[in-house]
Amino acid sequence: MSKTFYEIVLEHFDEAAEKIHLDHDCRVLMRQPERELTVSVPVRMDDGHLEMFTGYRIQHSSSRGPCKGGIRYHQDVNLDEVKALATLMTWKCALVNIPYGGAKGGVKVDPTKLSERELVRLTRRYTVMILPIIGPRKDIPAPDINTNEDTMGWMMDTVSMLQGQTVLDMFTGKPISLGGSLGRREATGRGVMICTLGLLKKFRRDVASTTIAVQGFGNVGSVAADLLAKKGCKIVAVSDVTGGYYNPKGLNVAEMIEHANRHPFKILEGYEADGVSRISNEELLTLDVDALLPCAMERQIVKRNAQDVRAKFIVSGANGPVSKDGEDILHDKGAIIVPDILANSGGVIVSYFEWVQDIQVFFWNEDQINQQLERLMNEAFEHVWEHAEKDKISMRAAAYTIALRRVARAIQQRRIFP
Ligand code: GLU
Repeated sequence: MSKTFYEIVLEHFDEAAEKIHLDHDCRVLMRQPERELTVSVPVRMDDGHLEMFTGYRIQHSSSRGPCKGGIRYHQDVNLDEVKALATLMTWKCALVNIPYGGAKGGVKVDPTKLSERELVRLTRRYTVMILPIIGPRKDIPAPDINTNEDTMGWMMDTVSMLQGQTVLDMFTGKPISLGGSLGRREATGRGVMICTLGLLKKFRRDVASTTIAVQGFGNVGSVAADLLAKKGCKIVAVSDVTGGYYNPKGLNVAEMIEHANRHPFKILEGYEADGVSRISNEELLTLDVDALLPCAMERQIVKRNAQDVRAKFIVSGANGPVSKDGEDILHDKGAIIVPDILANSGGVIVSYFEWVQDIQVFFWNEDQINQQLERLMNEAFEHVWEHAEKDKISMRAAAYTIALRRVARAIQQRRIFP
């Protein structure tokens, strides 16, 4: 039996906890989410019948501040996955040193099977079902897979209508016109770019001759591919739910984004161009490229296929794309992996900026946001890199030890209530 996502996250935790001799109380507290909420979400479908969906909101830790994390709509969402993702949010926020704990939510639904009106009703009911535990000082949701600024706008409206006032600071990733932040949509992909360039610089690699494969062409993968292509890297392959697209001479990423934007589900279905051949998602992962950016789902590089991965640099844009066994195999092959909690932290960093702007009702320009994002990410990248070099450990182990120490310190200073 392969390990569950939550078991993988705990394996990483236990390894780091051992390394820093984390005390027993902290270990017990940090190994378990603080609060797990499962909700039933009834939705009146367009044809009049009632359908029931299951949703979750899990708060892993509030030790360092309000819980923070996205909401995922996907047919495979389950309690184990949401627990794993909530836990990763705690480490992520601690690593980049923003004053949040970790949370995550999800609804088990294939959103492509619902009309927009059904999706709005699902979103509003789900919001109300988790309302008792969320709030600007308690838990602040954001987008994740298959949710976006529209979803966040509907959530913000639901709460605002119920409270009879405009509530800006309870959700992030909102549309700009509803208190959203400039740069938020691109932030996760921008962060993946910053980490990729940071790694190339450490290895004195020429950016222009770097070949890259990107798994996932959603909000993270497409932006990362686009920004890296604009920096001169050669994006030779990308993939989404429709499979992989490969051109050894380099893909026209901007054209592919335009194509996806024309599709109702923003996918690459039907994309064709000279020199582009179709490959499978599995083939993309094992291409002979300099850098591989898994920006889709968890558990993509595992024991079964890690030996076949040829890229020297792996930048984890998704949450949990590399399992612990997979990572051990990659390390033995000499690969360098930027862990998810660092590589994809750009999203939650700019979510933090959005929340700050909403609280003060004063908004920054895009340059200010991108500069601050770059500063926080570069600081975290350098911190992880130096720690990994000094202790001769992987970037993953270094990132975890930094994050765990910060959370442990907060727990120790607050003490256990009562
Ligand atoms: N869902 C994103 C993540 O996994 C963003 C979370 C947020 O902005 O709160 O990091």
